[in-house]
Amino acid sequence: MTEKYETREHDILIIGAGGAGLRAAIEALAQGASVGVVCKSLLGKAHTVMAEGGIAAAMSNVDAADDWRTHFRDTMRGGKFLNNWRMAQIHAHESPERVRELEQWGALFDRTADGNILQRAFGGHSFKRLCHVGDRTGLEMIRTLQDRGVHMGFDVYMECAITRLLKDGERIAGALGYWRENGRFIVFKAKSIVIATGGIGKAWRITSNSWEYTGDGMALAYDAGAELMDMEFVQFHPTGMVWPPGVQGILVTEAVRGEGGVLTNKDGERFMQRYDPKKMELSTRDVVARAIYTEAREGRGTEHGGAYLDISHKPAEYVKKKLPSMYHQFRELADVDITKGPMEVGPTCHYMMGGIRVDAESAQTNVPGLFAAGEAAAGLHGANRLGGNSLSDLLVFGRRAGLAAAAQAKQTGPTAIDDAQVKDGTREMLEPFERSDGDSPYDVHRDLQETMQNYVGIFRNEEDLDRGLNELQKLKQRAAKVRVDGSRLFNPGWHLARDLKSMLTVSEAVALSALERRESRGAHSRIDYPNYDEQWSKLNNIIARDGETMRLRHRTIAEMPEDLKQIVEQT
Ligand SMILES: Cc1cc2nc3c(=O)[nH]c(=O)nc-3n(C[C@H](O)[C@H](O)[C@H](O)COP(=O)(O)OP(=O)(O)OC[C@H]3O[C@@H](n4cnc5c(N)ncnc54)[C@H](O)[C@@H]3O)c2cc1C
Repeated sequence: MTEKYETREHDILIIGAGGAGLRAAIEALAQGASVGVVCKSLLGKAHTVMAEGGIAAAMSNVDAADDWRTHFRDTMRGGKFLNNWRMAQIHAHESPERVRELEQWGALFDRTADGNILQRAFGGHSFKRLCHVGDRTGLEMIRTLQDRGVHMGFDVYMECAITRLLKDGERIAGALGYWRENGRFIVFKAKSIVIATGGIGKAWRITSNSWEYTGDGMALAYDAGAELMDMEFVQFHPTGMVWPPGVQGILVTEAVRGEGGVLTNKDGERFMQRYDPKKMELSTRDVVARAIYTEAREGRGTEHGGAYLDISHKPAEYVKKKLPSMYHQFRELADVDITKGPMEVGPTCHYMMGGIRVDAESAQTNVPGLFAAGEAAAGLHGANRLGGNSLSDLLVFGRRAGLAAAAQAKQTGPTAIDDAQVKDGTREMLEPFERSDGDSPYDVHRDLQETMQNYVGIFRNEEDLDRGLNELQKLKQRAAKVRVDGSRLFNPGWHLARDLKSMLTVSEAVALSALERRESRGAHSRIDYPNYDEQWSKLNNIIARDGETMRLRHRTIAEMPEDLKQIVEQT
């Protein structure tokens, strides 16, 4: 029997209501398109709202010597030159304009004495570059974009999860989803789709990411024939909370270090001296995360296996003004007053540099009609992202995706969705209810997190990665047979059963790519290949679907033009 479903139609469907999705929606609306925005949670609750430290843009308000060239150079160096240089160039060029635009739309940033947007220091940035609102920048960004988008008139579908992209031949024609509240299905017809679903942090046990980060967009795109790129590059943020256990992984913003926070080990030694004496605490995240991890592994860690981060040498009023969320977070969750003593911190899975391969100019994937932006897309950050470069990425490439998706929709004639695809999608969703035995999705998720944490973590080697891949195959078999009890009315176990499919696809892509890259670069650290390998410096790992098999190939990075080469080579 065919499941009943409702149908909605838009020129453009945007999956995800974080910064990338909302900025794409605003641009598509400005082009006159009809736009639907779908999100798994409530509008305004996307991951972007959690962003704390700021938006990187070379506005030169604090350091006059900063400009797009220095931002471009820092981004490329931070990404260990694996970045799509054209994306890095566009990003450095366009982010100041995108921030000014945000301000014109009502965002209230912290100010310099002469009334300009205030900018703060952050790891890997040569100048004070992060435009911020205390440590609640993401909240201000989401509020502004949301107000503007709602005012311009997009339709929003909240607490609605997309489970499958629908195609008409080779091109995108729509998407299938369900309402989380009542479990009913919904089909969206659309000429273009923008994926803006963020990352995959929930596949690891210790993570700063929320429940929404299950890699859905990457897995949906992969299933529809899109390529994934650089999946081995997973960022472990150096500073997450380590104690008490219930809050392990929650982010301690880099702004603490940006504002002068100092890292020490249990012996009181400022250990960054040994890992990056020049930049110290403001070294890039990959370096600081490995440093803390190494200190703990070699017996110099804190009581709970991390490092101390101290900002209490600054005046208490200053700390409360510049880091209000951190002050409250530690007060309420750990009973620590950060104006009086140190925080205990350790690495936490934070951000995905890899993702859906897109064209630098248009954010288009290799599937006609499918676009991707934000954390779900790859390219800009290469092997390691600099803090603050995500929020500017969302604005710059969210806008470009919306623009290109609208142009594409205008050129596209009517498309049709074959009902068999919908039937297959609803059948697959309902199967877990029909099983009388099988694992609980929660058990499979727990084991997946352990597998990724233990075998595909900060430091990797061939033996662990092989073991991880082996475990993932077993987990895939268990996930395909999970049992769900209860009804379709707001049933988190059922939702997780679906999310597991995405997490497993993306985790496999990560482990496979990590095994393939036999060198250490940026966030990818191979104990068995500890050095850079020149041969790998020109290669991206590309993952694509071949029937039911995941295939990996190499792609040679295009040569950088001479003028850009000169910029990155300057000291
Ligand atoms: C605690 C924290 C602090 C951070 N601080 C900073 C910072 O200061 N500066 C910086 O540059 N970066 C920061 N980052 C990173 C940055 O916030 C994220 O990379 C960025 O917000 C991602 O935005 P996005 O638009 O790609 O995705 P998100 O904002 O996560 O939005 C994803 C959207 O997709 C929806 N979605 C997902 N799957 C589905 C599905 N199947 N169906 C329907 N909808 C779906 C979700 O509901 C959500 O609406 C921080 C991250 C964290 C976790």
